[in-house]
Order: sequence, then C-alpha cells, then structure tokens
Amino acid sequence: MSFIENLIANVIREDVRANAAYAVADGSGFVLLDQMENPYELPRALREELGQRLADAVLNRYPRGSYATLKAKVCDKLGIPAGYDVMLGNGSDELIQIVTTTVANQKRRATVLAPVPAFVMYSRAAQFAGADFVGVKLKKDFSLDMEAMLAAIALHQPAVVFLAYPNNPTGNLFAVEDIEAILRALGENGIAVLDEAYQPFARQTFMDRLPEFENLVVMRTVSKLGLAGIRLGYMTAAPQLLNEFEKVRPPYNVNVLTQVAAEFVLDHVEVLDAQAEAINAERTLLAAELAALPGVEVFPSAANFISMRVPDGAAVCEKLMSEKVLIKNLSKMHPMLANCIRVTVSTPEENSAFLNGLKAALQPGA
Ligand SMILES: *Cc1c(COP(=O)(O)O)cnc(C)c1O
Repeated sequence: MSFIENLIANVIREDVRANAAYAVADGSGFVLLDQMENPYELPRALREELGQRLADAVLNRYPRGSYATLKAKVCDKLGIPAGYDVMLGNGSDELIQIVTTTVANQKRRATVLAPVPAFVMYSRAAQFAGADFVGVKLKKDFSLDMEAMLAAIALHQPAVVFLAYPNNPTGNLFAVEDIEAILRALGENGIAVLDEAYQPFARQTFMDRLPEFENLVVMRTVSKLGLAGIRLGYMTAAPQLLNEFEKVRPPYNVNVLTQVAAEFVLDHVEVLDAQAEAINAERTLLAAELAALPGVEVFPSAANFISMRVPDGAAVCEKLMSEKVLIKNLSKMHPMLANCIRVTVSTPEENSAFLNGLKAALQPGA
C-alpha cells in the first residue's frame, strides 16, 4: 500500500471509509426535477434591491454572533409561536447533525429512530454522530406502523425520533394522533423532531403544539420555499432544550450573505408564498394527469413533489435523462420503493416535459 493509502487506513474511521459521499447530480443543461427546488426566481425588481443589500453587506467582519435581527424576522414572518426562539442552521441538514451530535458520543451510546423510507440525512447524521440508527418500516400505504413504532421505542429507548411532516420521499402527512402518541411514548426519555421542510406546501404544522409537548422540536428550512441556494434552516423547541443544542452549534454557522439575503427576502415572503400556492395548484393538475396513465400508481402528496410507482423505474429515469429531464429514482432507496420515482412539481412547461418523457417511456417497446 502507498503512503496515502496507509495514512487513510490509519486515521480515517472505518465506517467513513466504507461510505460513499452523498451523491448529487451535477444537472447542468437538465430540467431539474430531482431536488424539490422552487423553479421560480424572485421578481427582477426584488433581485435588484437584494443586489444592493448584498453590496452593502459587511464581509470583513464575522456575522453578529447572536443573529438577533434574522432570528426575530424568522419568528415574525414564519409563524414561530410567542415565547419561542429559533436556532439557525446552515440548512436544516446542519440542524439534523447538531441534534444527533448533542445526544450521542462514544461514552453515551444513543439511538436515533425514524420510520423508513425516510430522508437519508437522518441515518447519515446518526452514523457520523456515533449513534445507532433504527429504521421502522412504514405500512404499505406509507402511514406509520404504530404497533411497530411503539414497540421499537420501548425496545430501543431512542434519544431522538425524526418524523418528516410531510414525509420525504413518500409525500404523505402522518396522522396527527400517531405523532401525538409517539410524543407521549417518548415522554421525558426522548425528543421527537418534526421536520417540516415541506410546510410551505402542506400548510400543516406542529408549531402550535410546542407548549403541550416539551419533548417536541419543530425544524424547518427556507430551501423548498424558494431559497435553497442560501442554505438556511431553523428549529424551535422549549427554550431550555434549544439552549442545549446552541452549545453544539458552530458560532458563525450562518454566513453574512445568507443573513442579509434572508432578512431582505423574508420582508417579501408573500412573494414566495404565492409561488408555493402556484406550485400546489400545479401539483393537483400533475397528479391528475399521472393518475390517468396506465401502469402508474401515484402516491398522495402534501409536498412539492410527487412520488409514484411505474412498471420499470430505472428505464423511466433513463429515458427522461436522455430527454434532459432529471428526476429521482427511488428504487434502490428501500425495498418498499421498488420501481418508484419522485418528481419535483415545477412550472407548467417543466411538468409537461416530464409528463411527455414519462409517456414516451411507458410506450410498449420503449
Ligand atoms: C430537503 C429536506 C431537508 C433539507 O433541507 P436543507 O435546509 O436544504 O438542508 C430536510 N428535511 C427534509 C425532509 C427534506 O426533504
């Protein structure tokens, strides 16, 4: 073995060496329907004003450590209940890492639990934090298997349960009473993180339940709403609990440009809300068109994507790739998702590009 191979073998964790990096398609020249991005840009006038704000940003200084202005704006504009503060993250991906890191280390083995198929960052973050990850299979209709969930909670005593609401990659909202039962089962021994990344589309939230459940963390992001590029996530919980997570947060994790951009755009959040509403209307249309296609089983979605089962998921993705349309093949993610694909709901034009490619792929002999 060469020097560098020996070095890596000697210092890098075995489980990290065995892992592949999180694969993100480059996507240049493609219609991008794989990452649940909002396809609409900000109106020209707003972008010009934003450009001015960014030109005035103080780049030679660290961000103000308290993020007081941005946090106040997030609380005011994004529906944080009175008496609750937020913690900001470099995307909610970072917050997921912080939550898992806060509960586990080598001296205190902890379990992170989530229904599966779930957002992949939950298990990755658990692994890198040195926690055990337990996945509990959803039922066939993608609802929570409460018998299995409650049994797994009793057996593994998870420190954290992640619940994406709506769930990615299935798109559905779990039943409110099931989530309540999980919060009660966890009690003083575990935290439930409600990951509301798709709340701008689902318009359902557990925010107002925070006073009732002190073991509840509500996590969100501005990514799916239309600001994926700036990387800003936020979460809220009982102040004492949030304070513990704050100790693990890197001090300047949200950069000045993100801070300035978010403060400006949140003053015009109604523009993004209107875009989300348009995307929701498109989702209804697209779901109906998909449901009419023979061989396609469409799963109900409250998010800005639609997942579906097709006769041959890999073939559909390949055909769409050849038409320069990028979607997500879910087939290999979990056995329950065999031949399933996921598409971001986009503009009418891009949705048509997807539909036409899909129809072509479904032709006999395609
Ligand atoms: C997209 C997504 C996120 C990631 O959000 P970022 O803020 O962009 O890191 C978190 N949770 C779920 C369920 C997601 O689908």
